[in-house]
Amino acid sequence: MQYERMNEWRVRDPRVLDAIRRMPRHLFVDMPDVFEAYEDRPLPIGHGQTISQPYIVALMTDLLAVEPHHKVLEVGTGSGFQAAVLARLAREVVSVEIIDALAKKARERLAADGCHNVEVHHDDGYEGYPPKAPYDRIIVTAACPESVPQPLVDQLVPDGRIVLPCGGSGEDQQLLVVTKDEEGRVRGEEILAVRFVPLTRRLR
Ligand code: SAH
Repeated sequence: MQYERMNEWRVRDPRVLDAIRRMPRHLFVDMPDVFEAYEDRPLPIGHGQTISQPYIVALMTDLLAVEPHHKVLEVGTGSGFQAAVLARLAREVVSVEIIDALAKKARERLAADGCHNVEVHHDDGYEGYPPKAPYDRIIVTAACPESVPQPLVDQLVPDGRIVLPCGGSGEDQQLLVVTKDEEGRVRGEEILAVRFVPLTRRLR
């Protein structure tokens, strides 16, 4: 499926564009939004949450620089769409969702999509997911209040990277790429102003 203005997307890896093009996004939204599943914009998924705009999913996936042998942690499963994109590029995806009803639905959607290398856990992803650590890559799809959660840095391999939106709920969120070098030193780069739902800390 070709999204509008896809040729202008700042996405370098052709594997990422290919994965997005082939994704059955209609499987990840509810009626009546299925009719808009192939528009390049976010859509509601219930519980006050949204499935991200396809361009933002593509951009974040590209920035994550996933390789086929990687184990990836996602914080904020939501619909499961981003996890399904990652599943096509990585060896294994571990995704954590704080709202139980969304976690359950995402598991069903991922099964319907035929994804067998994704596991979804109902938990607070601020703490990462220690049983499966360390991770080669970490992606956060809800806005972290001020800085990168330390548990995520701790669960990242040396030479790993984290892609996350950072900042309050207003207009001042930035998409960041955070890298950790061989010595464990961390540095972040701002990419773009974005708008995400906030990372919360209370299990629902
Ligand atoms: N990646 C999703 C978009 C998710 S929207 C997709 O492709 O559809 C952000 C999600 O993060 C919401 O579902 C929200 O419930 C979840 N979330 C917020 N705080 C969280 C936390 N601390 N741990 C795990 N999930 C969280």
